[in-house]
Amino acid sequence: MPDGPRTAICPGSYDPVTNGHLDIIGRAARVFDRVIVGVVNQPLRKNKTLFSPEERQAFIEAATSEQDNIEVQVFSTLLVDFAREHNARAIVKGLRAISDFEYEFEMNQLNRKLAPDIESVYVMASPEYSFLSSTGVKELATFGGDVGDLVPAEVASKLAERIQRR
Ligand code: ADP
Repeated sequence: MPDGPRTAICPGSYDPVTNGHLDIIGRAARVFDRVIVGVVNQPLRKNKTLFSPEERQAFIEAATSEQDNIEVQVFSTLLVDFAREHNARAIVKGLRAISDFEYEFEMNQLNRKLAPDIESVYVMASPEYSFLSSTGVKELATFGGDVGDLVPAEVASKLAERIQRR
């Protein structure tokens, strides 16, 4: 086990960050000494992102600026390498409905094989956010839906701008 502060990584594409992500990040920050939010530079699972890595990072930084033990970094390497680089002992992921489970189960087996010393920890989505996803938010915003309750205010306004320009 690494010495020093107990560090966890919260990885994701965060395109853009939602209140559901922020709930998981905040809860992780209450359990671990230090949380590093890892913004995946170019997610494989998704098509081109709507926001650049720097924009995605800045949204999370603004939303977590009052929590001293949260940092945000963009990464392009293997997740377990990123975790090792920061001496993290855990990877924290949020679990929504059953749909997240299958994918997370597979990733868990792969990561465990690569790095048995790093534990993956799953935090259950809060009921109010359990149906909230970045994809859903983008879809709602595209058709003029109000996303004010689902994402930070800055994200809601940038989302409206970005979608209009497309
Ligand atoms: P998304 O699936 O919304 O595009 P990401 O790929 O950015 O999200 O996911 C980052 C992490 O956040 C994943 O572990 C995902 O399961 C989790 N997550 C996403 N939305 C929520 C939510 N509303 N509540 C809890 N966890 C969530």
